[in-house]
Amino acid sequence: MTISLELDAPVAESSTRRALTNISLAVAKCKKIVVVTGAGISCSCGIPDFRSSDGLYALVKQQYPDVVMKGRDLFDASLFRDKTSTSVFYTFVSQLKRCIDSATPAPTHHFIKTLDTKQKLLRSYTQNIDGLEERVGLCGSSCQEAKAGSKGKSKLKAKEVRNVQLHGDIHRVRCTLCSTNFPCTEDYLRMFNSGVAPDCPECQLRSEARVARSARPLRVGTLRPAIVLYDEAHPLGDDIGTIQTSDIARRPDMLIIMGTSLKVHGLKRLVKDFAKAVHDSAVTSTTGTPKSAKSWQGKVIFVNKTPPGSEWADIIDYHVAGETDRWAEKVIEDWKKMRPSDWEVQQTLDTDGEFKAIKEHQLVTTKEKAKRRRKSLVENIRLDDGAVHFKPPSSAPSSPTKRRQSACHYSDVESSPRKRRDVSRVANCLDKLEMADRRLLFVDATNSATIQFDELSTEVPIKKRRSGSIARPRAEVWVEIKKQQ
Ligand SMILES: [Zn+2]
Repeated sequence: MTISLELDAPVAESSTRRALTNISLAVAKCKKIVVVTGAGISCSCGIPDFRSSDGLYALVKQQYPDVVMKGRDLFDASLFRDKTSTSVFYTFVSQLKRCIDSATPAPTHHFIKTLDTKQKLLRSYTQNIDGLEERVGLCGSSCQEAKAGSKGKSKLKAKEVRNVQLHGDIHRVRCTLCSTNFPCTEDYLRMFNSGVAPDCPECQLRSEARVARSARPLRVGTLRPAIVLYDEAHPLGDDIGTIQTSDIARRPDMLIIMGTSLKVHGLKRLVKDFAKAVHDSAVTSTTGTPKSAKSWQGKVIFVNKTPPGSEWADIIDYHVAGETDRWAEKVIEDWKKMRPSDWEVQQTLDTDGEFKAIKEHQLVTTKEKAKRRRKSLVENIRLDDGAVHFKPPSSAPSSPTKRRQSACHYSDVESSPRKRRDVSRVANCLDKLEMADRRLLFVDATNSATIQFDELSTEVPIKKRRSGSIARPRAEVWVEIKKQQ
């Protein structure tokens, strides 16, 4: 029986809040999550629901005032039988693509990408043609990187595909004759907008080559949007079937369905197959023997504003009623709270301001640390009271090579005019001091943080180092610091 949970339940409803938190924890613990999405996840991105007759459809209507076509007709394979309906379709798709191009991915898209980054996503399957998953970094089944060969029609590399585009991709076009596919360029888009289909460059090349050999020219196909219409087979259908079968065999431990009304026949089948695999994963181990299921394992979660139909009662375990973005954000929030260690690495991967600061702190190289230490020593000199104070750094340098670098903090005095000025100020100041007042707190290699020095000399041309190497003086002002006995 499906348990329904109101995402925006009042705080007082503690049992609902607890159940939602448990789902978040389950997401954090599962390792092989299958995500299935529909148009609902892209609504907040400003992409209109093109099946309803508003916005975009009204625009197309202006261009073709005499044509009566709406809803399903606009996406039915039969439209290609008629020249006018084909033109309407091209114009409509070009307008829709423009709209999608100006949209930005929603938190739900980023959530799916996070699952992938955390190595929890077995695969994402979407009905959407907007390609927003690719924009957040999930390689889609229409991506060129996902294809085994250089041609658009070649086989899919299952490992590369993170997001299976069940209904194709609006950002690509396909030849009606040779099936080669290409990215949808601005030129193609303009032609589609005027209701005309561009010629296929691949067919054209083949034909021209024949003409060059004085043979008869070949037929040239036209390009159409590479989206899958109703009553049309997916050109990559076989490959997608293979990916789905292998995903089921890998025993996914959670199924998350978001933003779909689960009405399309093909999708219903896919969801039912995955739900069965997920429920099975909770009761059998990899060897096939029954085991006691962990409470977070094997859940089927449906996140959608409207509840699922009664046919899903034994398939969907939880219906989270609400916006998918809100739920995705809540899961991430709960996950960070409950399992902060999962996010330690992520802090260096996600570059939002707060984490970046931590990242920068963590990634400071030893060299940079030494540089900062030297700088802080110079900056700690107080000239107002005539005394010179060097504050010891919090810890001693860690290795002999580094110690030598910082043995004299004036070693880089010639590196910049500003530093030279700083040093001459120090030198002037030192001149005024009584020897007894020249008490410097300094860190030496073999000593604790507070060693006192009292002898300063301003001209030592060559200094013999402990290692036996000869260090040449690199500055006009050279301050030698001898350790007090
Ligand atoms: Zn072609």
